[in-house]
Amino acid sequence: MGAIRIAIELRFYAELADFLPGALRGRSFEHAVATHETVKHIIEALGVPHTEVGLLLINGESASMDRRLEANDRVAVFPALRRLAPPCAVEPRFAADSHLGRLARYLRFCGFDTLWDNAWDDADLVAIATGEARVVLTRDRALLMHRTLSQGCYLRDTAPLAQLADVGARYALALGSGKPARCLECNERLDRAPKQDVAGRLLPGTLAGFDEFWHCGRCDGVFWRGSHWRRMREVVDGVARAIANGLGQ
Ligand SMILES: [Zn+2]
Repeated sequence: MGAIRIAIELRFYAELADFLPGALRGRSFEHAVATHETVKHIIEALGVPHTEVGLLLINGESASMDRRLEANDRVAVFPALRRLAPPCAVEPRFAADSHLGRLARYLRFCGFDTLWDNAWDDADLVAIATGEARVVLTRDRALLMHRTLSQGCYLRDTAPLAQLADVGARYALALGSGKPARCLECNERLDRAPKQDVAGRLLPGTLAGFDEFWHCGRCDGVFWRGSHWRRMREVVDGVARAIANGLGQ
């Protein structure tokens, strides 16, 4: 005995269309589904991860992803854009997949708690993100379709700075900070270190040129606003300006 199949009408808006086969983009289309399937299942079967959906309307009413459908239902699916997402009460924390080491460093540079380990496989990443309520950052669509995952962000671009612009725009992140905030290697929050405490570890030029220092309690690294920090700052400021000008997407 086969499942009962019904016809519904579907439309995916804005950049969600990128996930679809070309013929289904930018228009409503009829789609045959089984009555026991949830909207989440139907959407993901078409290639769109549930984490990328910001708003779901069924016959013009807001609906949840576990809804089951009736014949002729009209389903409109909108992306998780900043303007559609609820305002973030708490600063998001991230877990980046193993290919996104450079993005993880940029996010740490901006002060955002971002776990990354290139030894993690997909199961590790999902377990950590789920257990610690972190947003998974990835370019792997299938990973975002993982059943237990509630927060994820699909990155369209391969370039780390474009990825930073995507994440920054989607979560309305304040990317600017005048001070070293997190260790780029460990993700640990940096503490201010009195100059006399670190003086013995610095080259004479650094000692003469800088007065403010920070320390990582995990890897014991010492940091200051030297040329490397300033270069990163300039690059990230450029990304922040692009987002402000609406070019982040
Ligand atoms: Zn460290």
